[in-house]
Amino acid sequence: MDIGPKRDGKKADLHMHSTMSDGGYPPEDLMRKCAAAGLHIVSLTDHDTTKGLERAKEVAKQHKMEFIPGIELSTRDVTGTGVDILGYGINPADEMLLQTLEFHQNMRIGRMEKMIDHCQQHNLDVDFEEVKKYAKGDTYSRPHLAKVLVDKGYVKTVKEAFDLYLGQNKPCYVPKEKDMSPKEAIELIHQAGGVAVVAHPIFYELDNSIYKWLTEDGLDGIEVYHRDHDEQAVQRFLTLAVKAEEARGAFVLKTGGSDFHHESFGREGEQIGQTKLPFYEAEKLLKRL
Ligand SMILES: [Zn+2]
Repeated sequence: MDIGPKRDGKKADLHMHSTMSDGGYPPEDLMRKCAAAGLHIVSLTDHDTTKGLERAKEVAKQHKMEFIPGIELSTRDVTGTGVDILGYGINPADEMLLQTLEFHQNMRIGRMEKMIDHCQQHNLDVDFEEVKKYAKGDTYSRPHLAKVLVDKGYVKTVKEAFDLYLGQNKPCYVPKEKDMSPKEAIELIHQAGGVAVVAHPIFYELDNSIYKWLTEDGLDGIEVYHRDHDEQAVQRFLTLAVKAEEARGAFVLKTGGSDFHHESFGREGEQIGQTKLPFYEAEKLLKRL
């Protein structure tokens, strides 16, 4: 029986972001950091884009790491809760996947334009070009706008920008128009050849829904070992996975990762490869693809 995150000293990290979405390192540099951290199985899971995958794969190969093409899709469930669905083993060039991503991308641009309008109405002088400087990839999201507000001295930190202006129900917040549902995301990932895993469930309190997605809607796994899951959360989601396995008579994947963006983004001292994911669980994922 395996205990702990390593087997023969081997480590995996299945959740990280590059500059193609809201991470701080280009895909190549990110993969070099993975190699330096001694990782053996890695996946790049940028938000709503596959653009970094080829570049990351190339460098991962040079460093003899097993690379899993990934993505993290933004969805919203019926209660209005934002739920991220990870896709592993997807074909990055899948036509339907790319078209759907582009459709949602265009909506995000429209939303950002509206938020910038609101900022201007609140005497915060920002424009789209400034936001673009931070959004090096295709994802325009609130942290990018928040950084511009910090840059221009309107607020001291990204957190303050959210607390005063950009957080839900704050004056410059604009809700997304139409989100994918978790079920739609699962189907999209499947038709692109991948398996679907619900990301960091500790943030949603939707255990009953997750059970339903696992037993009725084709969800393949739970990110049990996310870096923000303490021991208690790990046990809670392991139990949920086992319960779903019994109900559906099939294995439920248990994945995990650091959700790394950059050492200085968001969480204090974020480190690549920081996860309790047992290596054999990453191997099980690889076997499924
Ligand atoms: Zn993430």
